[in-house]
Amino acid sequence: MRCILTLLLAFLIPLIAEEKPNIVTANTIVHDLAQRIGGDRFRVTCLLQPGIDPHLYQPVPSDVQRLAQARLVIINGLGFEGWFDGLAREAAFTGPVVVAKAGITPRMMGDHDHPGVEVPDPHPFNAIIHGVTYAENIRDALVAQDAAGAEGIRQRAAQVIGELRDLDAWARQSFAVIPRERRVIVTHHDALDYFAQAYGFRIAAPMTALEDGEPGARQVADLVTFIRGTGATGIFLEYGKHPGLVTQIAREAGVRVGGGLYLDGLGPDGSPASTYPGMFRANVETILAALR
Ligand SMILES: [Zn+2]
Repeated sequence: MRCILTLLLAFLIPLIAEEKPNIVTANTIVHDLAQRIGGDRFRVTCLLQPGIDPHLYQPVPSDVQRLAQARLVIINGLGFEGWFDGLAREAAFTGPVVVAKAGITPRMMGDHDHPGVEVPDPHPFNAIIHGVTYAENIRDALVAQDAAGAEGIRQRAAQVIGELRDLDAWARQSFAVIPRERRVIVTHHDALDYFAQAYGFRIAAPMTALEDGEPGARQVADLVTFIRGTGATGIFLEYGKHPGLVTQIAREAGVRVGGGLYLDGLGPDGSPASTYPGMFRANVETILAALR
């Protein structure tokens, strides 16, 4: 009997302590949005820490546990978290999976390993105006989980969306002073296509958008030629990525590296990029400083 009581308590205590619905997020960008929009109505935890590469992440046993206890999961989608389906199967997670990018028309790109095959680019969030769609999707998913908190969720979402729209307008205005021919950016991986489309940039990178495969000597040489040909000064490292390739290419092209960008997630706590709006603002400022 005593044994049964102990067992019962062991199950009940976590249930009593766990009053708020448990939301698990699969990357730091949707995590920040979910926290801001959810306010104190949810317990939101992220599988990834800042600086961990979402493309190359390998889930750990504690992720299985966290997912098994989640009411709702929020992911970016478009293959950004290619490891997620396997993790969900392992955790036998059958709850709702919110795809934050839903509704954004994907931009297609070539697949490194399969010539002729096109796959969607998973980085819409780097054009902050697409973050509005992310915020709307997260808002609707949270409202569906918490009817009593709906008004607050909608208010916080409206505030976030306003902030994202303001940032988009600020970026447009800031880039307007950079002549078109100077709007060239080289990064470690091909994460700025939506950004380039939104703000009128040409982009190039040694690594593909999904970071599959390594570039050959020919591709590196082509990039050096591209930088020399365009007179590009916007050559950037990326937070959370090995600096080797970009440093080598910049050296061979005879140009200076223009700082670091945050293209797959937030920066660490205390950095200017520790929030999604902050990440975008930091990127725009770094790009402006290198191109002016
Ligand atoms: Zn990426």
